[in-house]
Amino acid sequence: MSSDCPFCGIVAGEIPGRIVHETDTVTAFLDANPLAPGHTLVVPNDHYERLDDLSEELARDIFAALHQLTPAVESAVDADGTTVAFNNGSTAGQEVPHVHGHAIPRFADDGGAPIHVVAGDRPDLTDDELDRTAADIRDAR
Ligand code: AMP
Ligand code: ZN
Repeated sequence: MSSDCPFCGIVAGEIPGRIVHETDTVTAFLDANPLAPGHTLVVPNDHYERLDDLSEELARDIFAALHQLTPAVESAVDADGTTVAFNNGSTAGQEVPHVHGHAIPRFADDGGAPIHVVAGDRPDLTDDELDRTAADIRDAR
């Protein structure tokens, strides 16, 4: 547990949270400043900052919770879909340094956008550059 982390505080019951799902390893609660009704966060109960700090098993538990919760969240607020995403690292917009998956309900004509808009200008990459990047990713696994 990190003493100044709000999500550790919610998991420990020291900070109020509208908890919607709890297991031995993960907790889900409503976002306090929601982007849409039903905006839900799924966190590991232990403090890890980034996705690559998680064990494979804990990563599975987080995705399993998102998988289970997404239809429940949509049904509770009568949404038409959900954007499920992680801001992984401060450059990607992560403000709370405790891994959290966002499940953001989406509604027809909600004025939002698909996830494609998050990364800024699209790079113009050649086939060779794409081939090299794919090889680099395979080698770095
Ligand atoms: P991110 O930018 O991905 O780090 O998102 C952090 C999210 O946590 C934001 O959507 C905040 O509204 C939300 N948040 C911050 N503090 C709390 C809290 N105490 N309870 C619930 N949600 C919170
Ligand atoms: Zn924490």
